[in-house]
Amino acid sequence: MAAIRHPITYRFPDSFPVCPGQRVLVPLATRKAMGIVLRPTSGVPPGIEVREALRALDPEPVLSPELVRLGIWISDYYLAPPGEVFRAMLPLRRETRRARLVRLTDEGKRKMGELAASLLEESRGSQEVALLAYLDRHPGASVEILHKKFPEALQRALAQIWVTIEEAERERSRRKVFAVRLVGPLPERQPRLSPVARRIIETLERQGPAEDHRQLLEAARANLDNLRTLSRAGLIELGGADTRGLSPGKRSVARDGGFPNGDLEAPPSLTPSQSNVLNDIFPRLDSGGFSAVLLHGITGSGKTEIYLRLIGRCLEQGRSALMLVPEIALTPAMQSLFFSRFGEQVALLHSGLTEGERDDAWWRLRRGEAKVVLGTRSAVFAPLANLGAVIVDEEHDSSYKQDETPRYHGRDVAVVRAQFAGAIALLGSATPSLESYWNAREGKYHLATLAERVGGRKLAAVEVVDMRQEFRETHTQVPISRRLKEEIAAQVQASAQTMLLLNRRGYSWFLLCRSCGQTQRCVNCSISLTYHRREHRLICHYCGYSAAIPSVCPVCGSEYLRYVGEGTEKIEQKFAELFPGARVARLDRDVARRRSEFLRVLSDFRKGKIDILVGTQLIAKGHDFPGVTLVGVVSADIGLGLPDFRAAERTFQLLTQVAGRAGRGDAAGRVLVQTFFPDHYAIRLAADQNFDGFFSKEMSFRRMMHYPPITVLANVVAQHEKLERAAQVAKEMGEFFTKVEGQFPGIKILGPGPAPLARVERRFRIQFLLKSVSRTRLHALLKQLADHCDQSGIQPREVMIDVDPVSIM
Ligand SMILES: [Zn+2]
Ligand SMILES: [Zn+2]
Repeated sequence: MAAIRHPITYRFPDSFPVCPGQRVLVPLATRKAMGIVLRPTSGVPPGIEVREALRALDPEPVLSPELVRLGIWISDYYLAPPGEVFRAMLPLRRETRRARLVRLTDEGKRKMGELAASLLEESRGSQEVALLAYLDRHPGASVEILHKKFPEALQRALAQIWVTIEEAERERSRRKVFAVRLVGPLPERQPRLSPVARRIIETLERQGPAEDHRQLLEAARANLDNLRTLSRAGLIELGGADTRGLSPGKRSVARDGGFPNGDLEAPPSLTPSQSNVLNDIFPRLDSGGFSAVLLHGITGSGKTEIYLRLIGRCLEQGRSALMLVPEIALTPAMQSLFFSRFGEQVALLHSGLTEGERDDAWWRLRRGEAKVVLGTRSAVFAPLANLGAVIVDEEHDSSYKQDETPRYHGRDVAVVRAQFAGAIALLGSATPSLESYWNAREGKYHLATLAERVGGRKLAAVEVVDMRQEFRETHTQVPISRRLKEEIAAQVQASAQTMLLLNRRGYSWFLLCRSCGQTQRCVNCSISLTYHRREHRLICHYCGYSAAIPSVCPVCGSEYLRYVGEGTEKIEQKFAELFPGARVARLDRDVARRRSEFLRVLSDFRKGKIDILVGTQLIAKGHDFPGVTLVGVVSADIGLGLPDFRAAERTFQLLTQVAGRAGRGDAAGRVLVQTFFPDHYAIRLAADQNFDGFFSKEMSFRRMMHYPPITVLANVVAQHEKLERAAQVAKEMGEFFTKVEGQFPGIKILGPGPAPLARVERRFRIQFLLKSVSRTRLHALLKQLADHCDQSGIQPREVMIDVDPVSIM
């Protein structure tokens, strides 16, 4: 189905009153489609055929006028087809599905009688008779079923016009969700498995039991029949859905993480600076108008308490509140806090929910039964009425940006939603994004600051370990310096907890052939595959493709293959070897896939049952581990080398955030950062935890290079499975830009050139980068580009337009 860039006008019969925000069924080309009523129009230009809408799907609008307006704004601002925007806003099950039904014609009925009465045995027993008799018993059976049962007879019956096919919309029945798990280890002598069966089993081995079979099917590119076959073969078990720990309401969500969840808890007392911030924010809420506040609070300064108090005040005023967090599944402590403060008024909205659970949460909010939302990016569309506050925690986090159409930024949409609702938008971070801090400096946002840690605790002292020096002195390239080893040994000796950050999962970065210098690459993407030891496979971190480990180089046949680089898996193993007495565990996306294991590691670490925790940026995100007194950064350099203008900002944020995990309890914390670039400003200023210093330094770089927030940016990529087509699309866009460039002064167009990731998920990517001093002008240019693409037959999926990209790779 092609995406449609513009809304379509329909006529509604008088008997069928509709309002904006209502879901309706409309004819679209030769089929029926679901639509959202946007606004009434008075006249239609002559010559345009207006079709009649079929019926309303709900008795009342599902989207409030405020949310309809927000959807239109997103569609316009991000140049996304409105249908796709509203689909993203409504996480509801589709109410209908298209069905092709077969019916007997009069001729068919006559023929059936004739055949049945026939004296000839073979005509009475023929497939045609069976088909017609079946249809007589099951009027309106689907084409798919009949095609399976009577493949040839159906063709003949259609040709003879004994039957006809009609299209119909069927109400979708509630689909059953199965939980899937492996029955046990595979038998010694493995049965011969088809590739799809192998994919299913591998996915289950990798991810653990699936709570929702549809997610498994997607990951393994399989269908339900494949699962049934494996179930009959006794290899997997299909059961009713296991919704434990995910459903809305109080339930066991909080208990999962080993956190208390009893009666509503009284809030702790506030520090003077927390009181100051609240005294600053509350009048803004009470005024009933829009305002945007950036809360810059250093790590451990108690931002969460500010959020909770603000939500509490909204509830006192009979208003609702919405809070976004980057990854809800990763913050069980936050869920626990919400339920303990606000009980049944809380609804969770995130992608880990099953369709049914999301549906329930959504309708609870729509009916006003729940008034507080804790959720990830798309929860910004939660159907809350009378909104008082929209809070974005860790507002700098790049996971707020959606990386598929509509490519909206959850944080920016949150601010616009607050504006439309007359609510307060509160963005919080210890390391605000340059955009938000710039907005605060420019007076667009009000700035509130928490400059001290709760309990008078000090920020951890940071020491930079120069790995060049280490190499000069030891003449060996090792991932762990003598200094870091020493410090950890002391920690282990003192039974104190250590956290080690390495922002790269897997065992080795890649498999290199020492004869020809080639690495094993993904067949779908232009990147090297990462070696994962647990699965003993090479895995693509972009598309999930995995390959067996070759015994010889597939390019030159050489046997000299070598694993290069260290990932979290390898570092975990190394530390377990170095400190045999210590309890070492790992936390990264591979572990997080198995939810129970993830929660167990988190809870064990909190309880002090783990001495050394190795992890990726997941361990840097908002966790509060009071026992951690040493944080080691194994390599601070991984992000710095990326060809992306935010590389320094990301490195600074990550280092500051992970350093903030140390010393949150009674003992002071220390941080060791290993790097080959000790003089890089991102590393130096993160070591000083000097946000203002970093902001000025980075702003001068952005100013010099014309990058946001000094300019506005759009990334335009021609993409296609065939390189020739991608090149053709890029060429046409290039010609368009050359033609209109003169009308848009102040816009710099770079490209076309291959994107840094020249191929992702089988698609070749050719990139243009547009930098503009004026957002209005950039928007006008992009709109013209979209129209031009429509006129020249370029499909929306062949062009990616990313407004305000967070990454330009
Ligand atoms: Zn080779
Ligand atoms: Zn790939």
